[in-house]
Order: sequence, then C-alpha cells, then structure tokens
Amino acid sequence: MLEVDDLHVQLDADAGLVRAIDGMQLTLSRGETFALVGESGCGKSMTALALMRLLPENGRVAGGAVRLDGDNLTALPERRMRDVRGGRISMIFQEPSTSLNPVMRVGDQIVEAIEAHTELRGAAARAKAIDWLRRVGIPEPERRVDDYPFRLSGGQKQRVMIAIALAAEPDYLIADEPTTALDVTIQAQILDLLRDLQRERRLGVLLITHDLAVVSGLAHRVALMYAGQIIEVAPAVEFFTQPRHPYARLLLQALPDASRRGEPLAAIRGTVPPLWQSFAGCRFEPRCDKAMRHCAGTPPMLTDEGPRHQVRCLLFSQPGEALPGEPAIAAMPAPAPAGSGVPLLDVRDLRVRFALKTPLFHRGPRHFDAVAGVSYQLHAGRTLALVGESGCGKTTSGKAIVQLLRRQAQISGQALLAGRDLFSLSGAALVDARRSIQIIFQDPFASMNPRMRVADVLEEGLIALRPELDAAARRERLNVLVDQVGLRRDALQRWPHEFSGGQRQRIAIARALAVEPRLIVCDEPTSALDVSVQAQILNLLRELQRERGLAYLFITHNIGVVEYIADDIAVMQGGRIVESGTCMDVLGQAREAYTRRLLAAVPRLQSPAP
Ligand code: SF4
Repeated sequence: MLEVDDLHVQLDADAGLVRAIDGMQLTLSRGETFALVGESGCGKSMTALALMRLLPENGRVAGGAVRLDGDNLTALPERRMRDVRGGRISMIFQEPSTSLNPVMRVGDQIVEAIEAHTELRGAAARAKAIDWLRRVGIPEPERRVDDYPFRLSGGQKQRVMIAIALAAEPDYLIADEPTTALDVTIQAQILDLLRDLQRERRLGVLLITHDLAVVSGLAHRVALMYAGQIIEVAPAVEFFTQPRHPYARLLLQALPDASRRGEPLAAIRGTVPPLWQSFAGCRFEPRCDKAMRHCAGTPPMLTDEGPRHQVRCLLFSQPGEALPGEPAIAAMPAPAPAGSGVPLLDVRDLRVRFALKTPLFHRGPRHFDAVAGVSYQLHAGRTLALVGESGCGKTTSGKAIVQLLRRQAQISGQALLAGRDLFSLSGAALVDARRSIQIIFQDPFASMNPRMRVADVLEEGLIALRPELDAAARRERLNVLVDQVGLRRDALQRWPHEFSGGQRQRIAIARALAVEPRLIVCDEPTSALDVSVQAQILNLLRELQRERGLAYLFITHNIGVVEYIADDIAVMQGGRIVESGTCMDVLGQAREAYTRRLLAAVPRLQSPAP
C-alpha cells in the first residue's frame, strides 16, 4: 500500500512561503485507481512530485510521511529512492513530446528502463521492449522500435511513455494528466489501455486530472483538492451521484453538456486563493454559496460522511446560521429568436493552401491543402461549432475568415459577410469588414502585448477600426466594455500579467467587443481554463449573444461545450466538412461513421450530477 500521512510541502516563492500541500492524507492499494482532481494550483501535481521526491529546487517536504509497503520514502537515501522511482512507482506526464528524449530511438529508451530495473540485458531487453510496444498497441513494433520520437504521432508517443513507465514492472503508476494533450479518439484508446493494463497487472494507479469525465470512467475512488487540501474523498460512483462538499456540487454543475442547454452553468464566484496567505477558517468560504457565520473563523476538518466517504465542511460537522449569499446559478434571460433569412456569414467552397518548403528537385507535393473546400452558413444570434481533431483544418478556416492568413496562404472560395465577399475587399471596405468580425484565441495572454496596460490593449482596436471616436468617447467606451465583461473599472490601469486566466479571457472578449462586431470567431476560448472559469466565460458569451444578437463561429474539440452552447455543428476531417446540421440532429443521430466515432470517444460522467 502507498500511504500519504499528513504530508506538508512548502515552496519558497517571491511572494513568500507557499504551502502547496497542507496536511494531505491518502492511501492507494494495488489494483486500485485513485483519482486526484481539482482546478489549477490546488496541489495535485505537487503531490505527485512529492511522492516521487522530484520537488522543484525551491520546494521541500515540511512534515508528514509517504510510506510504500512500510518504507518511509521521505527519509530514504537518494540511492535507494532511485530504485523506487521507475522500479516500484512509475510516472507518466501530460506532454509526451517533452518527456521522451528526442535524439534517442524509442526502443533504446524502453531498454534503458528495462536494464535499470530488471535482470534482462542486451538482446533479451530489446525483445522485451518490442513486446512492450506491442502490448501498448504500437503497430509493427519490430520496425517502430528503431524510430525516433518525431516519427510517432502524439498518441503513439504517449503509448511509448506508458511502455517506458511499465517496462520496469512497477507496482504503482502515477499518471499526471495523461490524456490532456491528446484528441478525444486517441484519449479513449489510451484510457482503455490504462484500464486493461491496470487490471492485468494489478497496478495501483494515482490518476491526476482536472477532467471529471475521464475520472468517472476510470477511477474507483476520487479525492477532490482545493487550495492544498483534500476537501472530499469518496468512492467514484458516490462522488458523482451524491457529492457533499459545496465546491464539489458546484464543480459538477459547472460542467457544460447537452442536459444544461438553455440554462446557465453554475458560476463559482472568485478564484482559488493564493497559497502564501494564511487561512483562519474554511479556504472555500469567500466563494461558497452555503457559507455560515462561523465558516470564516473555523477551519473544517475531514469528517466521515459514510463508509470511505469524508468531507471537509462545517455544514456536516458544525451546522449553523447561513449567511445571505448570491445564488451560484443566476436566472438567464429568454433566448433571442434564432436567425433566419439571409445568413450573416455564407462561406462557399473555402480552400486554404500553404506552400511547403521543399528542396529544389523535390518530386512530391509542393503545397498542403489545410482546408479543401468548406461551405457553411451562420445566421445572426446563432452559434456554429466547427469540431474535429487536431489538424482537421478548423482553426485555419476560422483564421481565414478573420483575414489572418492573407500573407501566409493561398485562399480561394468566397466568404460573404452580409452579402459582401470578404476575400475581395480592400481599403475602407476591408477596415469595415474587420470591424464586423473579431476573434478570441485560446491563450489570451499570448495574444496581448504584455507591455501595454489593459486600457491600451482595448483602445488599440478602437483607434484602428473606429477612427470617428475621439479620446473622450473612447474612454467612455472602455468603461462600458469592462462593465459588460464583469471586470472592475480599475482593471483598465493594470497590466495583463496581473490577471488570472479567466480574467484575461474576459479582457480578450472586451477587446473583441470594443469595435461592436457582428460575428466573433471563438478559437478554443475555454480549453486552457478550469471548469469553474470555463462556466463563467460560457455564461458571459451566451449573455452577450442574447443582448447583442452576436453570431459565434465556435472552434473547439470539446464536445461537452458544443452540446451546451452550439445551435449548429459542422464536423471537419482532413480539411473537409464530413457532416453538418443542427446540434440536436448531429449529436443525436450522426450519419457519418467518423462523427459517431468522435462522439463515442468522448468520456462522459457515468451518472448525471444532481
Ligand atoms: Fe462552505 Fe462553510 Fe462548508 Fe466552507 S465550511 S464549504 S464555507 S459551508
């Protein structure tokens, strides 16, 4: 058994002493999958690093113990700890590309693990490496064993990482966001593989993830972390059907899916507190919709709420007088009538071709068609989701519409915005069209100049695209914009780095709204965000759509988000649309085999959250 007993991990940071893990208690048995879930910065990954004694240089275990079958890992000499790492506990990380050695053949990397932790050497170790490649589902393992990592796809690299992790035949596996960087179909294959290997080898698996749907299909027990502590631990089925902690309930209600269409998602106000501050009471109190008078001054302990079910909340141990608070789910105004008649955007046979850098006498193709003839229509007030796996051309087609590829690619076809072809415009007509279509990117920080204050970031677009506004009118407009996206007005004088990911995405939305567009291309706008922040942003986008009749071209790989927000769907594969229709038709009765495969691969919560 792997046992974590009252573990405390501290980090020295510029802001002060960070208590990254504060009294962690958990056990993991052979044959069990235990999921550690929570939002960014709650301490999940730090727990994994502490178990492996791989903490960053500014970190240390400040108390407690990690025991593996009786050995205290926190006190083992480093020489013995090296045998534990890989030999008894292995780890796989989120990003296989950065975990594999790019200049070493994949077979050699597996052999290295086999020779370090088993008796096998030379040809026998190589034969075993080929066997591992076969077991993790790499086709033609005898040939692929000599490939370098760059020749493998993302899913194959993650399979090789799993092969390396298991080659030493460990008893326990720590999987830190093992499928977050992968497409859903590859994710489904990797999860099946983990499930099979876990059963076959009676592995104890510590699964670390923010994806509750992945957990629901894989884990036996679940622990939810918040601000460095476990706040609820329960058998998986019980956690998903009867969560007790207010945060767990809200988190499950913040997940977008088809069952919540037409209603707002639970909006958890505020953000996760920084861990350099000290806490007098419950760490979730400022965000809790069930907070009581004594919660701010009384730290709750983990208490039993049933067999193997523990909760850290005073509602269960010391109930008292409730504080008046805002409801976590606010009512939403009635939807705007669906657009009809002439479409706002009518894309006809869009093609985007990139030139390939090839040697002079190269015989193969000299170009690559990222989008190979795509047609769709989008009406005002509606949301069209472009979905598909990485490389299917969805982002490229969105960028082409916003005119971001004019210099890099050869674009043909038509994109009629209210009847005017965007690709044939120039001069004042092009400026006007640019004003009508804006884009929001996945990473708002990368799309902002870090040396510009928020006011300047927002004003930049106004100066370029609304030259008729004078300085006073622009300032007034900025105030209205920050109000609209739910930021305080003092945000205007601050720098982008001072904001959280969700706040930065609000700034990006404000920047898009600044020029009063009619259409916004949303390119994976929530995929880098935590569930609770994603819910805030999706609620905001829907509100703005209702108020202003905005049309959204929503590019995403997250089918749950699509089910929640989209009116229509176009499924892309290999630069073409393979199926399109209303959300209900495509998701309910997909005609194409590819769409059915894509939908079948999406992990689902086993039971609906209450
Ligand atoms: Fe909410 Fe109080 Fe429970 Fe904390 S202890 S989660 S503030 S009810």
